Amino acid sequence: MLPNDFRLKSLYGRGRDWPISYDELEPFYARAETELGVSGVDGQDESGQGGQAYPPRSIPYPMEGLKPSYMFKRLSEMLSKGGYNPILEPNGRATRPYGKRPPCAGNNNCNPVCPIAAKYDGSMHIDEAERHGAKVLENSVVYKVEAGDDGKITAIWYMRPDKSQHKLTARYFVLAAYGIESPKLLLMSTSDKYPNGIANSSDQVGRNLMDHTGISMNVMTKEDMWPGEGPTQLLVYLNSRDGAFRKDYPGYKIKVRNTVPTSQITSNLIGKGVLGSKLDEQIRLQSARSLNWAVDFETLPLPENRVTPSKTKFDAIGLPVPEIYYSVPDYWHAGKEKALEDFKQFAKLLDADILSTDVGFQNRQHIMGTTIMGDDPKDSVVDRDCRTHDHPNLFIAGTSVMPSSSCVNPTLTGAALSIRIADVLLKEV
Ligand code: SF4
Repeated sequence: MLPNDFRLKSLYGRGRDWPISYDELEPFYARAETELGVSGVDGQDESGQGGQAYPPRSIPYPMEGLKPSYMFKRLSEMLSKGGYNPILEPNGRATRPYGKRPPCAGNNNCNPVCPIAAKYDGSMHIDEAERHGAKVLENSVVYKVEAGDDGKITAIWYMRPDKSQHKLTARYFVLAAYGIESPKLLLMSTSDKYPNGIANSSDQVGRNLMDHTGISMNVMTKEDMWPGEGPTQLLVYLNSRDGAFRKDYPGYKIKVRNTVPTSQITSNLIGKGVLGSKLDEQIRLQSARSLNWAVDFETLPLPENRVTPSKTKFDAIGLPVPEIYYSVPDYWHAGKEKALEDFKQFAKLLDADILSTDVGFQNRQHIMGTTIMGDDPKDSVVDRDCRTHDHPNLFIAGTSVMPSSSCVNPTLTGAALSIRIADVLLKEV
């Protein structure tokens, strides 16, 4: 995140301010990057001269960035004529041996999980936690959090697949079930003393749901670009990441996906009845020239966008599934119009044909805001340390505490905030 992302309300009159500043979080970003094993190119920004689209850093990236592919170099050359300057997005891929992780082998098979563990995934820290004595209870779904009259959390209850119910007690609790299940669990945990659920005296649990709701465009270029060389890293354009325009429309990131498109193209061609040598020829041609561009928009924390436990639908063990209400305001639509202008400009600069444009509110799975952070217990769920205002021994870890979304992926911010929780716990425990 940029320093300005923490002061959205003060600077642009939109959304919320964070109770902490970028400078306070920066050392934790650095620690999170070391833990997750992030590689990146130092000194990049929108003008290529450092300092604007990328935030200030106290230390270099833990690992050097990946080398740009042919496509990245060619796109940079062509789009720079329109004033678009790219950044190779830093990411959790090893570019040298890093702990137990080998360097990335570049075979573009990264999602959902890298088969050789060059790319970070959450299982690595679960293994680490177990090595330090944590016990993982599989097939154990927490369905209730209990608090005493003094506000302290006393226990959690979990259910096994055979529907047996179990209780765990502890001095401290950290809820880390991401932005849909964390609020759902708190809202399910009602009692006489806490009729609105746990940590919910503000009525903000489940509200302010944010994502990076996006749009995309497919184009076909007239020269070979070779998408899919190397890992599925993103080349991103951050020209519209921050500025006075955020009073009127959101910041956004434009990205080109570096994913091998062969499988999708082949299915489409066969679906259209293209076969034999024509099929072979078209697969070769289209795979080398088809590009997918996508935009991730910043969204605002709106109280009406929310997660609640369903009253009518239940999962396999009888627990309510989440119900989600999510709307997109005029602010987002104003950003969409701006990004569509960029799309048209991109196609022109690349001398490419636009095959399709999707403005259908694409889900980016970057869930934020449902247990929002603030100084005022009346309109936020956790304080600046991610401790719930209502319960001194309950912390919430992850991206659900974020009061603003910016337009970049939130995982690193969630990890940095979680390391801050760990520091508080180490002091208190
Ligand atoms: S290209 Fe992707 S799947 Fe292959 S090693 Fe690198 S991160 Fe892993």
